[in-house]
Amino acid sequence: MDTLPKVATNTYVECTKCETETYHRVLTHIDDSTAQLECEICKKKRKLKLSSGKTVAKKKKKTTRKRNTHKNQYEEAIETYGESPQPYNMKTAYKENIAIDHPKFGLGVVTESSTRKISVIFEDQVRDLIHNRE
Ligand SMILES: [Zn+2]
Repeated sequence: MDTLPKVATNTYVECTKCETETYHRVLTHIDDSTAQLECEICKKKRKLKLSSGKTVAKKKKKTTRKRNTHKNQYEEAIETYGESPQPYNMKTAYKENIAIDHPKFGLGVVTESSTRKISVIFEDQVRDLIHNRE
């Protein structure tokens, strides 16, 4: 059995039907990290995923961008900003998509830029900051 992936060992995992950890037998291997198990007690079948172990979600780790929460927007902004973060200074003019290192609010990314004002998304919320002040 040495060709089988690690997931393919008979094991104790939670059975949703028995509502406790029961001994599960490996039936088949779906891929390198997924196996189908059968509960020894109630014979209920379930999938076991090696990496996360909880869901049969896709392998991609990135959060889905469907939900338009602040956290997602922030993470997306952080992933896509251009140059390295610049220290915030109200005299500097910032363009959209520039990352700012703010002494108080931390790392943020400019989402909107107008003549005197920028909207910056920080981890906790979006803030309007002054920029381009002479
Ligand atoms: Zn069971």
